Amino acid sequence: MDQDLDTSTQPHQLHLEVAGDRGARYPCPQCAALCPAHDFSEKRWRHLNFFQHECYITASVPRVTGPEHGGGHLVEVPWARKGSAFTLVFEKAALALVVESHKVVLR
Ligand SMILES: [Zn+2]
Repeated sequence: MDQDLDTSTQPHQLHLEVAGDRGARYPCPQCAALCPAHDFSEKRWRHLNFFQHECYITASVPRVTGPEHGGGHLVEVPWARKGSAFTLVFEKAALALVVESHKVVLR
């Protein structure tokens, strides 16, 4: 995992980079069969702030080609829902904020 603090932005941005292993096998999102990575697609998620810095996770997500479902399936990552631009903990925190602000309104 790589990290980089971008101080050219305000607030500063912390970028965490995760890279998949080229030789590894990954579960097909359709049938869970372990398949070799066909190629990698770079994706980015907004994560919770790290102190005052905005934090992003960038990962080379493997696309698998399997005997059953053919090629080009993006492997699911453990930290985000499929297709979401936010990490799960970010969504959870955002949701808690929404609930909290509604409580304030209801009182
Ligand atoms: Zn499959």
